Amino acid sequence: MSTQNNQELTNEVKRKAIEYGADVVGIAPLERFKGAPLRMSPQGLLPSAQTVIVAGIHHLDAAVELGGEPTPHDTGPYSTQGTQNCKLDDISFRLGRFLEEKGFQTLPIAASNIWRYKAYKDLKVDFAPDLVHRYAAVAAGLGEIGWSGLFLHPEFGPRIRVVSVITSALLTPSPMYDGPALCDRCMECVKHCPTDCFRKEVRGINELEIGGKTFKFPATNKWRCSWAENFQLNLQHKIPDKVDENVALEYLEKYGPRGGEEGSCLKFCMVPQKRVKDSEYCRAPRRKKALLKKPAELSQEIKAIFKRYFLDVMVIGQKDDFKPADHVNPVLHLPDVSSLILLGIKKSAGADEESKNWRQLNYAGFDVAHLLDMNGYSATTYTKITSNLVARKYGLPTRDMMYVTALTSAKLPSGVEKLKISKRSPEPDAIRNFCRDNGADLVGFFSEARCRQFRKVLENKIKLPESREVVADTNFTYCDFNAEIRNEAVKMKNPSDWFPGAKSVIVLGLHFPHASLDTAKITPSESVGPFAFVQYDALNLLSDIAFRTCQMLRTAGYKATFTNDFDGLASKMISCRGLLPDLRSNCFASMLAGLSYPGYHGHPLTPQYGVRQRFIAIVTDCSLPDDPLYSGPNACLQCGQLCAKACPTRAILDKPVGLNLEKKEFSIGRIDSFACDWAKRYCLSGKEGGQYLGLNVDVPVPKTRTAEVLADAVENVKWGVQKHLLDVVPECLRVCPAHKIT
Ligand code: SF4
Ligand code: SF4
Ligand code: SF4
Repeated sequence: MSTQNNQELTNEVKRKAIEYGADVVGIAPLERFKGAPLRMSPQGLLPSAQTVIVAGIHHLDAAVELGGEPTPHDTGPYSTQGTQNCKLDDISFRLGRFLEEKGFQTLPIAASNIWRYKAYKDLKVDFAPDLVHRYAAVAAGLGEIGWSGLFLHPEFGPRIRVVSVITSALLTPSPMYDGPALCDRCMECVKHCPTDCFRKEVRGINELEIGGKTFKFPATNKWRCSWAENFQLNLQHKIPDKVDENVALEYLEKYGPRGGEEGSCLKFCMVPQKRVKDSEYCRAPRRKKALLKKPAELSQEIKAIFKRYFLDVMVIGQKDDFKPADHVNPVLHLPDVSSLILLGIKKSAGADEESKNWRQLNYAGFDVAHLLDMNGYSATTYTKITSNLVARKYGLPTRDMMYVTALTSAKLPSGVEKLKISKRSPEPDAIRNFCRDNGADLVGFFSEARCRQFRKVLENKIKLPESREVVADTNFTYCDFNAEIRNEAVKMKNPSDWFPGAKSVIVLGLHFPHASLDTAKITPSESVGPFAFVQYDALNLLSDIAFRTCQMLRTAGYKATFTNDFDGLASKMISCRGLLPDLRSNCFASMLAGLSYPGYHGHPLTPQYGVRQRFIAIVTDCSLPDDPLYSGPNACLQCGQLCAKACPTRAILDKPVGLNLEKKEFSIGRIDSFACDWAKRYCLSGKEGGQYLGLNVDVPVPKTRTAEVLADAVENVKWGVQKHLLDVVPECLRVCPAHKIT
């Protein structure tokens, strides 16, 4: 690539990062990672790596300043950092997709919460993520490392979270930060650390060289630092002089968890150039910032956020609207509050949808508060204010509604916004375009009639089960497995089983970056993290598109809901975000929508991406035409059944079931679901994922296949704290070449 093209692409990448929601973005060349252990380096993860892109989102100042009160466990508004992580995940995923479409191998990394707790082979690092974003941010010229070990930005201090994307594209590096020192050794981080982490169990001083600059900071014991922040142990305990995994597990067994915390090293730190003391307002230093846009201008931008998220209602009100009888006192939640912004969504009957709809509200609330914060005002969400009482004050219903409230010091004009009702019924092509414009790669429709016909054909060939016995863990996330046998429904549904009168299904597909599977387990990092990340994030992004599509249909007078598994037959896959719907979910729905055909391994295959996409299904009473069924080549006829050979539990059986629908032949893979779940759902086969996390787990599938045997097996494994973050990469997916064949 010429220097000019390289610069143009760099500018485009930076523009995209900002468009996707980043506040800052920097470009790190590979040579600035030369001190990193190979397994935690860009090229250890992606051997063709040339560049790391680092994007950051600023923490809401008020959330940091007012959270963690009266104790660090009381995170309060600081919980906005969970939303920030999700938004960073989306930026990482979308930048990964953007560069892949330009022809570059690109590996997006998760913002947080994917790591190996203990040393792995020759990598003698505890709590090792795939890549250390803090160090990558320094390499990308965004700032420095402070005495706390946190990343410090010249504008935001430690109040920024960052994420990295590794790519084979050669981009123009950002210069290293060369302004005044960002850490003045004020030692507020040391003074306030509730576990005394910077003085106790310190193994010496780290000397970290990045891009010609050296940063010194204490080599703390991560197990001690994680006492509350990770393991949720009570900070009131007398913390032992030596903390390790066994100590954490012993205290968890003896006392149980108390809750996470807002890190005091973050809360009490601010770079000297931006540090302001205001002890009337909060115990933490405040951040110096200037007022930029006027409230009237910002209120227009807030309306645009409301519209972008397709929420049902927004009210902007004033703190003085509330009288003592209202039982809401906004000043208690934000000392300098002027206005409140209440955002609401009607609850949906669909269970999958309801859990995902909180994401829409939290994102919208964060975006509103973030806009105000970046313009110099105090603003936050996640306070203890009772949103239902705020809603009642403004005459809004609370039954079957979900609300969040943002508070701000900006005096915004009062007003009410509602989702606009459309006068026109959308045409099928308009729906298709809407889904594509909102990010879907694949869109297909099928009707109730086709679904019923398929079910008849399928039931003639296969006896479908009604339920299956599964084993659930009822213990705390870090403690030993406490197995409880439960029944899980396994029932194929028609659209009208989702709600009376449903007529059609819209199936959406979203491709996840190839590099997440191409690199899994086999590059020097031997990581399963990037695949786990793109799985949960693809499902999250699909839920965003599905929610907007449902809202668009509702405004036109239709009913709609969405589901991760329309078929009702799929199982789950273990992941660092809990059990996710496995990749067989929506296999038949995507086939009926003309997007895919079932593979030998039972997963949907598409001509565009093979196994490398996730699907979501929207059920609606809007009548839509059947899309033509897939009639192209079948990759399984050309590949020699690599999936069956690779499966560690021999769960892929021979002789797939052939069936004919509308004169098209399909071949449905036969799966031994007990053996498959053994590896994919319960992580009992090392090769599927556990061994790459450093776990000594490899339990053969037993001859006696009962839930009791399964329960014994999961209880007998010594998971340690890694049980909190288990990930697998199904071998049958990793080796499947369908995307290269069809
Ligand atoms: S609190 Fe002070 S010493 Fe600690 S990292 Fe921040 S600026 Fe440095
Ligand atoms: S590995 Fe081969 S046989 Fe198995 S699903 Fe993929 S293409 Fe088909
Ligand atoms: S490789 Fe894993 S997911 Fe695939 S069939 Fe075997 S156990 Fe199941």
